[in-house]
Formats: sequence, C-alpha cells, structure tokens
Amino acid sequence: MSVNSRRQFLQRLGLSAAAFTLSPMIACNQQTKTKPNMIVVFCDDLGYGDLGVFGHPTIHTPNLDRMAAEGQKWTQFYVAASVCTPSRAALMTGRYPVRTGMCSDVRRVLFPDSAGGLPEDEITVATALKNEGYATACIGKWHLGHLPQYLPTNHGFDTYFGIPYSNDMDRVAGTNYREVCMNPSIEDFEVPLLRDTEVIERPANQHTITKRYTQEVIQFIRDHRQEPFFIYFAHSMPHVPLFRSDEFAGDSRRGIYGDVIQEIDWSVGQVLDTLRETDLDENTMVVFTSDNGPWLVFDQHGGSAGLLKDGKGTTFEGGMREPTIFWWPGKIKPGVVMDLGSTLDLFPTCCALAGADLPNDRIYDGWDLSPVLFEGQPSPRQAMFYYRGTKLYAVRKGAYKAHFITQSAYGNFKPEAHDPPLLYDLDEDPGETFNVADQHPDVMKEILELIAEHNANMTRGLDCLAERL
Ligand code: MG
Repeated sequence: MSVNSRRQFLQRLGLSAAAFTLSPMIACNQQTKTKPNMIVVFCDDLGYGDLGVFGHPTIHTPNLDRMAAEGQKWTQFYVAASVCTPSRAALMTGRYPVRTGMCSDVRRVLFPDSAGGLPEDEITVATALKNEGYATACIGKWHLGHLPQYLPTNHGFDTYFGIPYSNDMDRVAGTNYREVCMNPSIEDFEVPLLRDTEVIERPANQHTITKRYTQEVIQFIRDHRQEPFFIYFAHSMPHVPLFRSDEFAGDSRRGIYGDVIQEIDWSVGQVLDTLRETDLDENTMVVFTSDNGPWLVFDQHGGSAGLLKDGKGTTFEGGMREPTIFWWPGKIKPGVVMDLGSTLDLFPTCCALAGADLPNDRIYDGWDLSPVLFEGQPSPRQAMFYYRGTKLYAVRKGAYKAHFITQSAYGNFKPEAHDPPLLYDLDEDPGETFNVADQHPDVMKEILELIAEHNANMTRGLDCLAERL
C-alpha cells in the first residue's frame, strides 16, 4: 500500500496517518489523538505586500507560495488592532481588546516597565485547547505581559521559549533610538530570552532568533507527535531592529528586510516539512499571518502594505489587513478566499476543530471559519470594527468601510474626525482613495445600526496597559 493510499485508507477509518505507527498501548487512546493539531505562525509587522504570493516583486517566498497553493490564501483577513499588544490579545482571546482591557489611550502597547498584562480571568485559545487534552507551546514574542503571572505558562501554555516583548525594547541608555534601529547591533537592545519563566540569555542573540524559534517548534512537533498539540509560533521579526542568520545575509534582492522575510519563509518550509516527515501533515492545520501592518516610518527597514493605504498604527487597510494563509492538506479546499476573516475567528475555529464548546460566560467576537475552510462556503464574518486604543475609528460592513476618525501612524499627527464619515467601497477601491459617502446613504445607515448593536453589547475592560511599575 502506498503512503497516499494508506493515508486514504486510514482516513476512511477516521484515523490519522500518525496513528498507524503507534504502539497498541498508545493507539488505545485513539479518540484523543485524532483531534487535529494546530499551529499559528504569527509574524510581527509584516506588510500585506511583503510576500511573493501576495505580489512582492523581489522577495522570494517559495515555501509560502507552496503553502498558499496547497491551502487557502485569504485576501481580506484582519487583525483587531494595528499594534502588537492589542492585536495579540485579540488572537489569544477571540475578543476585541476593548473587552479585555488590553488596549489603552495612554500607552499603545506594553513596555518593560508596564505593570499589567492579559488578565488572569481571560481564557486563551491555549487554555481552551489544553482543557481538551492538547499539549501547548508558545514559541516567540508574547507581548501580553512579562511579569510571571502574565506569561504564557500562566495562560494555558505548557511551555514558553521567546522574547517576551518587542525586540526594540530595553534599549541601552544613551543610544539614539532611530540610529540603533536602522543600524542594529544586539548589544543595543537588552531584551531577555525566556525559557518558561526564567531568563536564559540577555541580551538575546537576535541574529539567530528566527532559526532558534524554528528549531524549538520542530522539536515540539517531534516530541508531541503522539498527542494533539497547539503551537503559537510568534516570530519576533520583521519588527525593527531587523536581524537574520548569517546564512540569509544578502539572500534577498530587497535588502535586509527581504533577507528577514526569506528566513521566515525558510522557517515555514522547515515546519511544513517536519509535519510531512512525521506523517502529521494531514492532521494539522497551519495558519500564517501577522499582528499588524508594516512599520512605514522605518523606510527600507519597514515592509510594504502593497496596494493598501498606510501601515502599522493606523486604522487604514494597511494597518490591519494581513497576508494570511491556511494550510491543511487533504482537508482545506485549496483556493483564494476573498471573504472577510479575522484573527478574532481563530479562537472559535480552533475550539470547533478540537470539539470544545465556547465558554458561555463572556461575549466572543469571532466566528468558526470551518465552513469556508473545508466546504468552500461563504464566510460567516460580515463586518469588522477598527479600533485605535479604546476608540472606534472605522467600521467595515460587506464591501463598505466608513471612517469616523482617521489618524496617521506615528509622530504628532492629530486625529481628524469626519462628519459625515468617509465611505469607501473596498471591493472596488482597496486603496481607500475615492469617498463614495454621497452615493450610499443607505449603507451608512446600516453601518450606524451595526455600531449601535455593537455598543449595546459592549462591556469595556479596565485599562491593562497604562499602569507602570
Ligand atoms: Mg507588530
């Protein structure tokens, strides 16, 4: 029997290919092991236009190209905030950051002197899956609180390996921020590398960080191949300062930024190859996306949002629409999905795949995307709310997006309120160039009704980001 026909045979029996090689003792616990594995690969500040498969002309991403060809490429997939901490909180909890308190109008993200973090009563996707018997690993950037009570090992992860916040933090006193970001040396950023809750290296050697994260992920897959697992693989890159391994220096025609992306692409290849080698590929869903758009103020060290407007820090499309790929050979219907999706949907989707009920004591902001992934049905997501800090700046419903407030990313740019709001048809005008508000008063009315409904169901969490140690 060939490998493929063996897999098909086992699938008909409801068994994974991995189970075929298990000992009888292990195989008796079959029900647990047939739950699918899940890996979320989460980049930092990757732009919508920075992958070959999303149209970049000089960044070579053969592994992501193949992943997209074998899986689903989502062209309208959103994060719930345009900066790190709130975006990550939304992925982890399936809830808008205003509900969890993981956003603020005082400080946009957590810093090394922050006293707060993801509240202990928030349920992460890792906790939900752990309750279903999953082995869980967080490898990479966390940025949901660096104090012990907020670390991944206190939020449902069995193990953690990574830099707990952004790689440009803990800057050596007296250095010029922009200068050390544009000409980086690891000695300029005294960021720690943690194993669970212990600092094992400081400053972290960021040159090898992508490679070492990848090795950790591969080892976890191999160590846990006989039980269901969930891996949150959150790259520290391509957030500035940019670092890559020696092997990738000069690898790209797009400078150091391209080198960094091509190392991430290599990493994806390593992970998918490991799944194939261990016969876990047909029982593992892998999602690739990023936390927010490109950091445009860093010139060539920042990425590109392609045809989308603006980048990180804004509620324009370039800040919050991410290049996203879902992969699960033999299970996901390959193709391009132009419907809406969000990292908010990963929590309910992962729970559904694991057979877990959503906790019923809180409001969730996501949908189970399984019908789109596996049956090619329309996405249940019809809308997206774009917050900056605690304020709602824009709302998308169907093809239309209304901006009530706009604000550029960084610097002293003031928020600009729009009354009447700006309205763009994102299907026709993804670059948000042509205001069509005059032509669609009916659409604006529908969006206002949607906001009223959203606000009626909103209980705001206390600001977890403002307090300093
Ligand atoms: Mg980021």
